[in-house]
Amino acid sequence: MNAWIQQAVALIKADAQRSADTHLIKLAVPSLTGIDLYLKDESSHPTGSLKHRLARSLFLYALCNGQIRQGTTVIEASSGSTAVSEAYFARMIGVPFIAVMPRKTAKAKIKQVEFYGGRCHFVECATQMHDAAATLARDCHGHFMDQFRYAERATDWRGNSNIAESIFRQMRLERHPVPASIIMSAGTGGTTATLGRYIRYKGFDTTLLAVDPENSVFYDVWQTGDRSIEINQGGRIEGIGRPKAEESFQPSVIDRMLQVPDAASVAAMYWLEQLMGRKVGASTGTNLWGMLTLAAEMRERSEQGSLVTLICDSGERYLDSYYDAEWVAENIGDVAVYQQSLATLLDGGCS
Ligand SMILES: *Cc1c(COP(=O)(O)O)cnc(C)c1O
Repeated sequence: MNAWIQQAVALIKADAQRSADTHLIKLAVPSLTGIDLYLKDESSHPTGSLKHRLARSLFLYALCNGQIRQGTTVIEASSGSTAVSEAYFARMIGVPFIAVMPRKTAKAKIKQVEFYGGRCHFVECATQMHDAAATLARDCHGHFMDQFRYAERATDWRGNSNIAESIFRQMRLERHPVPASIIMSAGTGGTTATLGRYIRYKGFDTTLLAVDPENSVFYDVWQTGDRSIEINQGGRIEGIGRPKAEESFQPSVIDRMLQVPDAASVAAMYWLEQLMGRKVGASTGTNLWGMLTLAAEMRERSEQGSLVTLICDSGERYLDSYYDAEWVAENIGDVAVYQQSLATLLDGGCS
């Protein structure tokens, strides 16, 4: 075996060995008697989001495939968290990293990629990212990671401390250790694929609910089975929703889907800040809206049980967008109506 690959794999495994698992936080919501809500806090990874897991998986996958070797330039199409996390692992094993992103990407994101020694290559708009990354990889004999294609298969879905195994292990001593549902939004669809496969593999009595924001085709693709549906508009909830069904999105692992208005996602993230004193990203708000919707349904049917979702990233990244009232009024719309319905739901009663 190639000694360099052996060493690179060992470096990533040693880093994982030194890492702690992320917390599973229990929420206290008095009005939901008998329904226990949990948040898996993926913002606490060293690079700040659930993409830390994906980046580790993609690097190990490409190394073990022999696609990344000594000196191979690694390239990704990402304007977001994936580029930041991949830059971290590229630096760890000493390979060059280039993130292909739209020119209008937030300065803070560009800075973070550069902080980890990555380079940013700009294209004019998001739809050009994929092809530009593939071309760049061909030209420099590099490796295009292609998260939207490989996310679903790079992670060991049967276990190996993946996010699903971790959730079920951390739930073990709870009063309802097997969640009635796990709720998750989809970006690459990688996390829902891991959760859904693991649930079936272990035979758990847990349903997987996927939540989708506005301007995304995932909900329609799941409903109709038609993977060719496309829209020509980008979404407003960072990290989730896609204008087309990328290969990594696996509808058949999902038991149920809900569409969540973007303003409802933002209302839910504000609600969590009130409850926990912490800011989270907007996709976490989408997850929460889905979880609270299920909780309301369970209360209606007098059911007890537990529900689990994820904190995907922290809100500190979005102080000048989702946490800026003017920006929200201009870009998202009226959040107050959803804040009101959350207040009614959580006041304990009928709406
Ligand atoms: C990527 C991402 C998601 C969705 O996770 P996938 O596994 O890619 O479907 C949700 N929220 C944020 C902030 C993300 O970066």
